[in-house]
Amino acid sequence: MPQIIDGKLISAQIKEEVKEKVAKLNAQGTRVCLAVIQVGTDPASSVYVGNKKKACAYVGIESLSYELPEQTSQEELLALIAELNGKAEVNGILVQLPLPGHIDEDAVIRAIDPKKDVDGFHPQSVGALCIGQPGFVSCTPAGIIELLKRSGIEIAGKECVVIGRSNIVGKPMAILLLRENGTVTVTHSRTRNLKEVTRRADILVVAVGKPRMITREYVKEGAVVIDVGIHRNENNRLCGDVDYEDVSPVCSAITPVPGGVGPMTIAMLMYNCVRSIELQ
Ligand code: NAD
Repeated sequence: MPQIIDGKLISAQIKEEVKEKVAKLNAQGTRVCLAVIQVGTDPASSVYVGNKKKACAYVGIESLSYELPEQTSQEELLALIAELNGKAEVNGILVQLPLPGHIDEDAVIRAIDPKKDVDGFHPQSVGALCIGQPGFVSCTPAGIIELLKRSGIEIAGKECVVIGRSNIVGKPMAILLLRENGTVTVTHSRTRNLKEVTRRADILVVAVGKPRMITREYVKEGAVVIDVGIHRNENNRLCGDVDYEDVSPVCSAITPVPGGVGPMTIAMLMYNCVRSIELQ
C-alpha cells in the first residue's frame, strides 16, 4: 500500500503555525489584513472566496471583502487596487480569478503592489522565484513542496516530472523543484511520448487538467505521485487528474483527491499573508 499524503492534516498544521504567528504579531500591536476582491457571482469563485475568508477568520487574519458586480469596468477594478495598494493597513490583495471576459487579467495582476501580491502571480514575484530572491510563491506549488517535505520525501537529486506548464501551477512547480535540487522535466500538450517521459519520474506532479487521465502506464513502480487536478466525475464526486484506483497500487506515495493538494492552497495563502508583514 502506498503512503497516502494527507493534505488535510498538513494544511491544518500549517494553519496552526500561522495562527500562532498572527497571535504573536497581534500581541506586538501588528494586525494582518487581506483584501479579497471578487468580480461577478461565479458560484465556484464564491465558494473559493468564502473558504479563504473562513481560513482568515480561523487564523486571526482580518479580511476585507469587495464583491463587485459582473459589469465592473477594468478601470474601476484598477482604481480599487490602486486604493488598496496605498492603504498601509492592507497587507495582502487577492483578486479571485477568473475575471469576466472584458477585463484583462494580466493588467490586473500587474496592478497589484508586488509587496502585497499574496497569490504570487505578479511578474516581479515570478521573476524573484526564478532567480532565488525573496518574494511570494504561488500557493498551490508552494503547498506541494510542503506536502513533500513534511511527508519525509527527499527531492534533491530525484527525477521530477511535471505534467502541465501553466503560469499558476506547472511553471512555478518546476522552478520550486529545481530550487530543491530536483532534476526537473516539464511536459505539456506538445510533448512526444509522454508516457516514456513520465515513467522516468521519481516524483510525478500532475497538473494536466484532464479527469483521471494518468493511469499506471504513466507511472514508474515506486514513484511519488502528486495530483493537482480537481474535477467532478459523472456521479458529481470529486476526482483528480490521476486515476487513483489504478495508480495507487504501483506508487510509493500519492495525494488523494479530495484531501491532498486542494487544502494546501488556502493554507499557503494564509502563510503568504503573514509573510507579507516580513516583506513589507
Ligand atoms: P491549465 O489548463 O492552465 O494547464 C494544463 C496544462 O496541461 C497545459 O500546460 C497543457 O500544456 C498541459 N496539457 C494539456 N493536455 C495535455 C496532454 N494531453 N498531455 C500533456 N500535457 C497536457 O490548468 P492549470 O491551471 O495548471 O490546472 C491544472 C489542474 O489543476 C486543473 O484540474 C485545475 O482545476 C487544478 N488546480 C488545482 C488547484 C488546487 O488548489 N488544488 C489549483 C490550481 C489548479
